Amino acid sequence: MNIILFGPPAVGKGTQSKLIAKKYNLPQLSTGDMLREAIAQGSEIGRKVSKIMTSGELVSDEIIMDVIKHRLSCNDCASGVIFDGFPRTKSQGESLHKIFMQMGKKIDYIIELSVDFTVLIDRVKARVSQTAPADRRPDDNPEILKKRLEVYEAQTAPVLDYYRGLGKLITLDGALSIESVSDKIFAIIDCKVK
Ligand code: AMP
Repeated sequence: MNIILFGPPAVGKGTQSKLIAKKYNLPQLSTGDMLREAIAQGSEIGRKVSKIMTSGELVSDEIIMDVIKHRLSCNDCASGVIFDGFPRTKSQGESLHKIFMQMGKKIDYIIELSVDFTVLIDRVKARVSQTAPADRRPDDNPEILKKRLEVYEAQTAPVLDYYRGLGKLITLDGALSIESVSDKIFAIIDCKVK
């Protein structure tokens, strides 16, 4: 089973992906986490993406597709994955489609967590005030969030439109509690699995 979880930054994709990963025993493929790992390791990719990530812009499609292709070739991805924060551009969506065609795979669920952007800005403001500076992500502050939301609207919303046009997009209210959102996601998956 392959799932794409869409949604603006700070909507809770990471949290929900982890819950889905645990319940259905699938790996969570967060491109953001993979890039942060590359930065922590001081790898060549890490050095290339560090500044871009801190600015709130998107990393190049080429780097993202290299990272994703490599990860999809790992054994633990054989029976399915949860994409968290990918695809984020039309080009990434098209590349994923091609790769999946070649691998004989399909996307089973495309779920969008939708929420008013003001809720996200308030959420990040609260998080910043409750987290010690050393524990904060460099891009997790209200200023950079505004930039990331602009980037989301300009570059990621068109991908959503594409999936919506195919009649494949399921939209959930991302302002609900973590448990309510995960209950809805599990209900969608279990219904089809049965
Ligand atoms: P995230 O942890 O998903 O919020 O991603 C943090 C940052 O990593 C983003 O603001 C981008 O700079 C970069 N990033 C993560 N995933 C992608 C992607 N699929 N395409 C381009 N950039 C990405």
